[in-house]
Amino acid sequence: MDTDVDAEIVIVGAGICGLATALALHRKRIKSVVLERSETVRATGAAIIVQANGWRALDELGIGSTLRETAIQIHRKCTFSGEDSYRLTRLSQWNFHLGTIRTNCQVLSVELDPVTKFPHLMLSNGSVLRAKVVIGCDGVNSAIASMFGLHRTTLRLFSTSVARGFTNYPNGHKFSSEFVMMSKGQVQLGRLPVTDKLVYWFVTRLRTSKDSKIWKDPVLIRQSLMESMKGFPAEAMEMMRNSKLSFLHLTELKYRPPWDLLFNNFRKGTVTIAGDAMHPTGPFVAQGGSASIEDAIVLARCLAQKMFDDKNKTEETTINSAMAEEAFDQYVKERKMRNFWLSFHSFLVGKKLDTTSSIIRFIILAIMSTLFRDPDWHSRYHCGNL
Ligand SMILES: Cc1cc2nc3c(=O)[nH]c(=O)nc-3n(C[C@H](O)[C@H](O)[C@H](O)COP(=O)(O)OP(=O)(O)OC[C@H]3O[C@@H](n4cnc5c(N)ncnc54)[C@H](O)[C@@H]3O)c2cc1C
Repeated sequence: MDTDVDAEIVIVGAGICGLATALALHRKRIKSVVLERSETVRATGAAIIVQANGWRALDELGIGSTLRETAIQIHRKCTFSGEDSYRLTRLSQWNFHLGTIRTNCQVLSVELDPVTKFPHLMLSNGSVLRAKVVIGCDGVNSAIASMFGLHRTTLRLFSTSVARGFTNYPNGHKFSSEFVMMSKGQVQLGRLPVTDKLVYWFVTRLRTSKDSKIWKDPVLIRQSLMESMKGFPAEAMEMMRNSKLSFLHLTELKYRPPWDLLFNNFRKGTVTIAGDAMHPTGPFVAQGGSASIEDAIVLARCLAQKMFDDKNKTEETTINSAMAEEAFDQYVKERKMRNFWLSFHSFLVGKKLDTTSSIIRFIILAIMSTLFRDPDWHSRYHCGNL
């Protein structure tokens, strides 16, 4: 390794995107170091819906078939049309052999060294880590994204909160094995049996002033959800009443306007961003996680092409600034419009749920039926080979 740096490629954040990027690079025989602020690489959220494009990307990573063994295949009912099936999976079951993941390592900011132009990462323990390349996969409140002058994600764009969880039925439940949505006013409930004794569900409802205080307390979350769901069928109320506290999560939706994606080049020197750090798409089209895995595939492919495809280079080639800059420019070019359309679609679906104005809802429906005539356009995408 170059003596001017402590690490060649640093990935900030060990969420879906950071881990997928590390794995994709690993498959290309490119080493990286992942810095994660939490104590462990943990699984937040109850489960995630992965659509066909996400499975294609997971197959490229080489973990699709392992995950399929534990994922649940589901067919949609009510909100969406089309025959495509989703699969629900717990990505905590990913089994990585990646090399270095440094936990308890929070990055506060990144700056480009005025002389070497390499990025320097300021860590919360006061130390500075010098890298050649930084990939910010640090989620919606990304410290790396602020380097690109991106607006901080905001609560203002949506007034919705989302809760997710599981309910256990020791004597079995009577639900059919379909994904069912029901709504009353601005409260929506999605329900999906996982086994004959376990049901996954999510609730979207207007944010309340209490949400920011109760999000760490599952008992209060459940109580608040029960209040929002007054008037729902008795079986739905019972499901909520018996929900497993250990899997209950409440998220206030933070968002960056989709048009921020159009007017930014997402590369500064040898730094770029991916996943929610670049495009927080929220839950409304259930594509944020899959789009993050697609980012990882494209990023690793572009870096590997620049590092190894030139016939003059050997496999021992280490990355340099020119390679990283060209690779990131290619990556941004490939991902920008894909992520813009996903983000825009999700934004419109979210706004439609959010608004109380029938005129706005009508306008949104008109835009959606013009732009997204095929509601499954996003899952037909293939990000290409790793
Ligand atoms: C309620 C809800 C439901 C959703 N449902 C779906 C779904 O069904 N299907 C789907 O595809 N998508 C879904 N999404 C979107 C999906 O969860 C996200 O798009 C995805 O998790 C983004 O992954 P990420 O790795 O970019 O970010 P994250 O998962 O947020 O990971 C970021 C990681 O970086 C770490 N980190 C943050 N800051 C720092 C720092 N400064 N230094 C070091 N580490 C740091 C964090 O601890 C975290 O581990 C949903 C989102 C929400 C809110």
